[in-house]
Amino acid sequence: MEYVVTGARLIDGTGAAAITDAALHVRDGKIAWAGAASALPDDAKGVQKIDAAGKTIIPGLIDAHLHICWNGRESVLELVKRERDLIVLESVNIAKRILATGTTTVRDVGGHNYVEMHLRQAINAGHVPGPRMRVSGKVLCMTGGHGYFIAREADGPDEMRKAAREQIKMGADTIKMMATGGAATPGQDVMASQLTVEEMKAAVDAAHAMGRTAAAHCHGTGGIKNSILAGMDSIEHGTFLDEETADMMVERGTAFVPTIGVANPDLNDIPDNAQSELKRLQPILANVNVAMRKSVELARRKGVFIGSGSDAGGNPLSPHKYNMAREMEFLVEFGVPEMEALVIATRNNAKVLRWDKELGTLEAGKFADFVILDANPLENISNVRKVSSVYKGGQKVVDQGIVL
Ligand SMILES: [Zn+2]
Repeated sequence: MEYVVTGARLIDGTGAAAITDAALHVRDGKIAWAGAASALPDDAKGVQKIDAAGKTIIPGLIDAHLHICWNGRESVLELVKRERDLIVLESVNIAKRILATGTTTVRDVGGHNYVEMHLRQAINAGHVPGPRMRVSGKVLCMTGGHGYFIAREADGPDEMRKAAREQIKMGADTIKMMATGGAATPGQDVMASQLTVEEMKAAVDAAHAMGRTAAAHCHGTGGIKNSILAGMDSIEHGTFLDEETADMMVERGTAFVPTIGVANPDLNDIPDNAQSELKRLQPILANVNVAMRKSVELARRKGVFIGSGSDAGGNPLSPHKYNMAREMEFLVEFGVPEMEALVIATRNNAKVLRWDKELGTLEAGKFADFVILDANPLENISNVRKVSSVYKGGQKVVDQGIVL
């Protein structure tokens, strides 16, 4: 399979200026060449052309933090009681919808009894359409800790080491740990630290020894600090980041993965069954949102490496709907330029997932994962919602909103 997409504006995800009249040469699922049409190499000249005049090409979006087994319409506490088959079938549908919005890669950081790993297998085998996946398996939390209803509970360094190794044995790419309380677990304080430095360090070391990464759910500053000291690769949410922790992250190269959309539910789209949960969560989320904005501003000022995740599925107010478009819209609202928001959602997230050798930018040698948009996202970031088609590994997988 070989073709050249012509006539479009190209944003390659590296942060380089857009090329107005570009050509993208795809061969055997990979990018053979990308650049200005006027410089198209000779070997691409006789190849089949796909006309994309007036459109914009961006790299496939990457969501560094979501929950593909959970629909974001009902509380996970309720969903865990559901028949496993039903959760499997719904996650297949969620995977399809994620792809339709131009997200070609995701990292799941808390699934359901390894359903997400089997979903990944099914996607990779071509049984069902869906994004490329990195997975954490079960989250690790202290006994009764945040998300205990989907977690492998563990106390003490020895148990944490074993719990991490269990996830790796099942196929985990990253180990997800709960360093503070969370909003989705009723009765918890998001500021309170949970797993200790010693506990997390044991699991982080086990992950690193096996070539895996470690990611920590953190809201309160104490938990952020504990996670950095434990050697974590990424701080998820990172709500109450402060000067000291931001400096520590820069020094150690710890990535920051804010999740803004989940703290900003679309109030016109709350299912009836979630109204009581909305009442319970609204004051917590409002507080989180104000702090998140400050953290993003602080992280950019300090030069912390920034990724981005939607946390879709995490609570009944976070459906899988234009997940990464929403994140980028909020980033721009927080003062991030459009180009930088796109780089965060593509190149930076590929780095967070340790997949940047093959994904994240439209450069020769990488997978041909790209989205053709009907309008220019540099003019208005919401134009990332105007998906014309999506390609994964050079194959068209979405056409005019229809998953093929
Ligand atoms: Zn989450």
